[in-house]
Amino acid sequence: MIERDMIVDQVKSLTHECACHACEHGCHYGSGILIGKDFENLAKKLGIGVEELKEKWLEPVEQFGQTFWRPKLLRNGKPYGPCIFFDNGCTVHDVKPLQCTLAMGCKDYGEEIMVWFMEQYLVDPRRENSQREFRLYKESGGKTLR
Ligand code: SF4
Ligand code: SF4
Repeated sequence: MIERDMIVDQVKSLTHECACHACEHGCHYGSGILIGKDFENLAKKLGIGVEELKEKWLEPVEQFGQTFWRPKLLRNGKPYGPCIFFDNGCTVHDVKPLQCTLAMGCKDYGEEIMVWFMEQYLVDPRRENSQREFRLYKESGGKTLR
């Protein structure tokens, strides 16, 4: 259903507004990666600039040899913790990170969407270190799209 050459609007059209809280466990133990305009949109909602957003609300995360940004996790000394924007639901729902927007746990293709996100945004075909980590991921049995 989800194919590698789909564009983001096609993938978004396969998602919907959440009508329950079943997938919130993801917000309890992690947060989604911001892409492109996500930074400006979230900064604007908070009434701050992108640099202040990164400093106060986001944390870097390494994926496939590159650095991305996601909402801070409130770890309290543990390896994982809730997303800083979680408070009985997402408090930045209308401008949440693209990875959060695309997460669709109730669809049988939900996992494929997350793989599409990974291949589309996290793996850089122009960078050898990114490709190397992707090869390791595949060799260890990681899921990919056709
Ligand atoms: S993706 Fe589906 S199951 Fe998960 S919170 Fe949204 S509506 Fe509920
Ligand atoms: S930004 Fe919102 S949807 Fe994304 S992890 Fe945080 S609370 Fe959950």
